[in-house]
Amino acid sequence: MNIFLGIDIGGSSFKYGWGNCEEGLQSYQTLVLQRKNIDDFFAVAKELFNDVDSKIGLNNIKGIGIGMPGAIDKTTGLVTENNPNLPFWVEHHPRELLPENCNIPFAFDNDANLMALAESYTQKKNYVIGVTVGSGIGCGIVIDGKIYHGAYGFAGELGHICIVDKGLKCNCGKNGCLEAYSSGEGLRRRLALKNPRYAEMDLSAILAIKETDTVVADYIKQGQLMLAIALSCLATCLDPEIIIIGGGAMDLGLYYIEELESEIRKRLPAAHSAKVKVAKAINGNKAGVLGAIKLIEDKFNSKEE
Ligand SMILES: [Zn+2]
Repeated sequence: MNIFLGIDIGGSSFKYGWGNCEEGLQSYQTLVLQRKNIDDFFAVAKELFNDVDSKIGLNNIKGIGIGMPGAIDKTTGLVTENNPNLPFWVEHHPRELLPENCNIPFAFDNDANLMALAESYTQKKNYVIGVTVGSGIGCGIVIDGKIYHGAYGFAGELGHICIVDKGLKCNCGKNGCLEAYSSGEGLRRRLALKNPRYAEMDLSAILAIKETDTVVADYIKQGQLMLAIALSCLATCLDPEIIIIGGGAMDLGLYYIEELESEIRKRLPAAHSAKVKVAKAINGNKAGVLGAIKLIEDKFNSKEE
């Protein structure tokens, strides 16, 4: 049985595990990034590879898949422009994270793309729009079982489509992005602008009062509707089998899948509105690691053929 290593790099931790698609994960762990700087980042990567080497032996790993936030330029492999979740990780190549003289085949991709790939495999659907709603909004598009990257690697940037002309400033520097309205952090920021009493509350505290606070309820409803409108546009163009929605804010109960499905379907052409399903992600916080393993395993198998 071939063993692959999957690494999912987030804004505050490295999640990793090894295994393969058919038999699943044999191991799954998290290393916390204590300080957000480049030295700590490389130190955590080193600790990760030391741990894998001591437990299973790097020589036994057939391939390494890495997922990370940020738009990755297809031609250079570099994470470019601004990277709000990992501001120090720009103009770097993921190869720099591997141990010196490591000859193990590796592949990398954006973390939301890998979430969509993992869900596509697990839910056995080949045409998938995968969305993560957390502090930001990530999106991956899977067409015919493979990640769709576009011409330059920037496909699927759903969080940064303009949903409100000249609207609120987004982390990316533009105005009116979906992420500024419909993400967990977007909701928090909008409420804080409305009334400073919300400014001290985290997302869990905000969601705890959504039944009793009409302002919170209204803002959540608006965020949900904007997400549904954006997804209905994307689905109208791409004709997916399924739209899969996950992420930390969804796990906390920010939006309702049934309501999203009904709002999306209302806006789709009649011919495919009943066919497109909207479902919750089922791989939870392991999706990035599983997607990274699927990515490198596919690459490994295509070379074997
Ligand atoms: Zn933006």
